[in-house]
Amino acid sequence: MEYRIAQLEALGRFLDEKKQDIMEATALDMHKPFFEAYFTDFLLCKNELNDTLNNLCCWMKDEHVDKSLVMQLDSAFIRKDPYGVVLIISPWNYPIHLFLVPLIGAIAAGNCVIVKPSETTKHTEKLVAESLPCYLDKDCYAVVTGAVEESTKLLENKFDYIFFTGSPRVGKIIMTAAAKHLTPLTLELGGKNPCYISDCCDVHNAARRVAWGRFFNAGQTCIAPDYVLCSVEMQEKLIPALRKAITEFYGPNPKESPDFARIVGDKQFRRIQALLCSGRVAIGGQADEKERYIAPTVLADVKPSDPAMQEEIFGPILPIVVVANMDEAIDFINARPRPLALYVFSCDNKVVNHVLERTSSGGFCGNDTLMHVTLTSLPFGGIGNSGLGKYHGKFTFDTFTHYRGCLHRCMGLEAINCPRYPPYNQQKLGLMTTAFEIKRKGMCTLL
Ligand code: NAD
Repeated sequence: MEYRIAQLEALGRFLDEKKQDIMEATALDMHKPFFEAYFTDFLLCKNELNDTLNNLCCWMKDEHVDKSLVMQLDSAFIRKDPYGVVLIISPWNYPIHLFLVPLIGAIAAGNCVIVKPSETTKHTEKLVAESLPCYLDKDCYAVVTGAVEESTKLLENKFDYIFFTGSPRVGKIIMTAAAKHLTPLTLELGGKNPCYISDCCDVHNAARRVAWGRFFNAGQTCIAPDYVLCSVEMQEKLIPALRKAITEFYGPNPKESPDFARIVGDKQFRRIQALLCSGRVAIGGQADEKERYIAPTVLADVKPSDPAMQEEIFGPILPIVVVANMDEAIDFINARPRPLALYVFSCDNKVVNHVLERTSSGGFCGNDTLMHVTLTSLPFGGIGNSGLGKYHGKFTFDTFTHYRGCLHRCMGLEAINCPRYPPYNQQKLGLMTTAFEIKRKGMCTLL
């Protein structure tokens, strides 16, 4: 425990001492606003770290469990063993947060770790590769840089656990590589997160919360609301409210706002720009390839067959798809792969609960967007196409921990073991049944 705490505290020093460098690197990589980088790549990481340091002693402890009658003098417990050597592969959109949070849990659980940050955010990758090893024990923790070729080579090795964050397409490649060695893994993937806005809601509050979640980091957030489902009447009210929210946030020309990020690369820019032809442009729509700028954009009357509805947008575009009512919205959501996050806005709690009950998603947030990930007490992860496994807070520690079921029996009292040895007979079977049987609660034992 002392060793793990020392390494975690060193990670804390990395964050504190390199805070300014992190902000500068993420700004150079994608014009990430200081506020957004500070909140996600610094503050939320520090929260995970402090939560882990505050609780590690308790999480690491053996957990003693219930025992059967014949084992009352024995010890049955769960030992929290590390897996061994862990590989963490992360994406570029929150380039510190997405490798650091799993790294905290992997160290806390006692593993050795190789971190492979994204090659797309060059400045952050360089900062991590050069400075992180100065803080951690080089015998146990390493950073490997590179793109597909290097990752492919890395994956040929046998790891004891792989933690991957990225696209579902690459997730399948990682899972195939892991299967060769039967390596357990977590897949934190993406997809299209629906946001249903019911007719009964405070449209201005909903617009602000949706616009913030969609345009934060210029839409390059795995849990961003990807598209809105609402009635035609709500669409009418929502568009001016979204326009007002966007102007409040970024001024009359978002291109000049220091609080609006850029698209990370040319390839990603062209992909997102091609989605602008969906539906009709109600707000924004401007793009500048030189700056990799795409304005905060709202597309109205988007059809399910339009390009913007065929893939995860991962950019500052919000399509609105009109549905007749809540039931149609639920059918629309359930006809598609299960998303990483699902959002519902309504003043009527029954509507929020109804959508929650009749759908499935990695996470859920009623009357807001993104905020559920700020709680270390909630598990974060996908389901189906949006991923496998969960982390944050204690869930990260558990992810990197093998729960080893242990029974330590006393050497004596052989008489109580005799009923299980051959030669078997009916009387021994009766004794074994009495000693081992688990009864249903509430059943009358006299009958
Ligand atoms: P990506 O899948 O292209 O890349 C992720 C990582 O995988 C990078 O480090 C990359 O170098 C590596 N990689 C790429 N191709 C590889 C291959 N063939 N073999 C081995 N490794 C390979 O994803 P991205 O473009 O960096 O990130 C965007 C995606 O990540 C989106 O789909 C987004 O939703 C998802 N994402 C999910 C979460 C989450 O927590 N669930 C968080 C952020 C991003």
